Amino acid sequence: MSTQTTSKLVVVGSVAVDWVITPTAERQESVGGAAVFFSMAAAPLTGVQLVGVIGHDFPGSAIADLEAAGVDLSGLERSDGLTFRWKGRYHENMNSRDTLETHLNVFENFSPKLPAGYRDSDFLFLANIQPSLQLDVLEQMARRPRLVGLDTMNLWIDIAHDKLLEVLARVDVLAINQEEALQLTAETNLVRAARKIRELGPKTLVIKRGEYGALCFGPGGDVFATPALPLEDVVDPTGAGDSFAGGFMGHLARTGEITGENVRKAIIWGSTMASYCVQGFSYDRLRGLSREDVARRYQQFVDLTSF
Ligand code: AMP
Repeated sequence: MSTQTTSKLVVVGSVAVDWVITPTAERQESVGGAAVFFSMAAAPLTGVQLVGVIGHDFPGSAIADLEAAGVDLSGLERSDGLTFRWKGRYHENMNSRDTLETHLNVFENFSPKLPAGYRDSDFLFLANIQPSLQLDVLEQMARRPRLVGLDTMNLWIDIAHDKLLEVLARVDVLAINQEEALQLTAETNLVRAARKIRELGPKTLVIKRGEYGALCFGPGGDVFATPALPLEDVVDPTGAGDSFAGGFMGHLARTGEITGENVRKAIIWGSTMASYCVQGFSYDRLRGLSREDVARRYQQFVDLTSF
């Protein structure tokens, strides 16, 4: 893996304490949040600048883990009150889940102030959080970043639909779950949903399909499909989508090259980082990964799909 330009990469999104229930195990007080998974997954590839808010209950050990990974936390605000909390239960196949509880807590009244050193970044990822906050961060950039990515989920499609459409119109890449792509467009066919979404703004659409991998619809009708790494030991899928986004954006920021071919490589990097995420609770498996580790697993993907 060669090191190239390495542009700055900013992420805004939830920073959370989760309660995760799988068919065989359970973890309360599991550190999560879209921005945390994203940052831990991008960190082996490039520097990340995080924007978010935590309450007094957020564990200091997680701050230490993010710092050890090299994540810039000058945009992470500390507030009185409780951290964002989410509780979910996975179904028997681990591919789908029910949200049991979502508490925005300190995110409810969060008004991010981007540190000056974040504002000129070329790469921006608006990870999952309320669309008004995503828009707020985008508007604080000194100039339009070269590439803006977005993720969202069913809750925001339901309760903040118009704001979400406003954000969508201003991004280059949307990375979204299959079910959410269908929900957003009121479609049952993924290809039709992809066309409709691309008409709403993003020229590139990445549809995440859990254990079935990812599908990417690019400009000019380009379609690229990749599997997920077949794994025996899926422990907790929470954060897989965010880790995918971290690997994807991390590769693009590291190389600074936005071409169709490099976007394909970025999708393999996304799949690589997601494969680590699901092998442990929280970001346990993403912690401490070296460039050599991730490069080896990337190669496993290349071998898996070449013929
Ligand atoms: P993923 O499995 O990639 O969809 O992401 C799971 C993470 O998203 C968990 O750590 C949750 O804390 C976080 N999360 C759940 N619901 C929301 C929401 N409505 N907005 C932002 N983050 C959320």
